[in-house]
Amino acid sequence: GFGEIALPPYLQENVRTVFDFLSKVEIPDNYQPSQFFPLLENWISKERMNYPALAALDIALHDLQGKLLNIPLRRIYNIDDREVPFTAFTLGMSDALTMKQKLEAAKDYHLYKLKMGGGNDAELLSNFRSLTQKPFCVDANRGWDNEDAAALFCDQLKREGCLFVEQPFERTALDKTAALRLKTTLPVILDETVQTVSDVDKVKEYCDGINIKLVKCGGLYPAIQMMAKARAYNLKVFIGCMSEGSCGCGSAAQISGLADWVDLDGPLLIKNDPFAGLQYNDGRIVLNDEPGNGVKPSRDFLNNWH
Ligand code: MG
Repeated sequence: GFGEIALPPYLQENVRTVFDFLSKVEIPDNYQPSQFFPLLENWISKERMNYPALAALDIALHDLQGKLLNIPLRRIYNIDDREVPFTAFTLGMSDALTMKQKLEAAKDYHLYKLKMGGGNDAELLSNFRSLTQKPFCVDANRGWDNEDAAALFCDQLKREGCLFVEQPFERTALDKTAALRLKTTLPVILDETVQTVSDVDKVKEYCDGINIKLVKCGGLYPAIQMMAKARAYNLKVFIGCMSEGSCGCGSAAQISGLADWVDLDGPLLIKNDPFAGLQYNDGRIVLNDEPGNGVKPSRDFLNNWH
């Protein structure tokens, strides 16, 4: 089974701590598919969890389980084969000309995610709208601090066709998030504030939805639990990624039929994807019927693996 994670530099964990965690994990010698859920439960119950490392392991076990049962990963959870939602294509903060070039390169996509919070948000919005009329969402990435200014801008975003804003304020600023929601009707999604299953309980009164990432929560098994909990609280679900390639994003795509919105553009934004087999067509991921997570290590990766 193959797993994959990406480690952005702002995470607490790094390559060394991930390998340290993986070297201490107990893996049964003669794994049987009946051990799947008990093993996942056992892994996630450990103290001082290294969530990215757990995600790598969890994804690999899901891939293995699918291969042993000869079913695509999604069928482990009885997720049917309905089309997965359009994936958002991320547009980093950039000047008008760069944005134009990025949009031309990504013209097959039907939903864009604008990174904001850098001080020239209104300009970014007007540049974007002068180039396309397609729908978009905004990730403020904790970059706002005043709820009145944020509410005015959110109303403007809504008039311009924005679907939601993600993580407007600092990770712990739940009171500000609550105040913003009273002042605007644009849905507010939380990302950095929500990491684990128990965090969903903590934020349920403060937001309209959550952004789930496998690297953040520890893999597919906790992600499924977070999705179920979000549904019970009537929260929307956005499934995202860090900068994983086809294995990490393809595995997340297997459960994205349970999400409202999908942000799995990692393989589109990197040049060193270690895996192949994930297909994008007309702005969305098309899942194949291969057992497991549906992707294979690239030849280049296998030749250089050590
Ligand atoms: Mg985000």
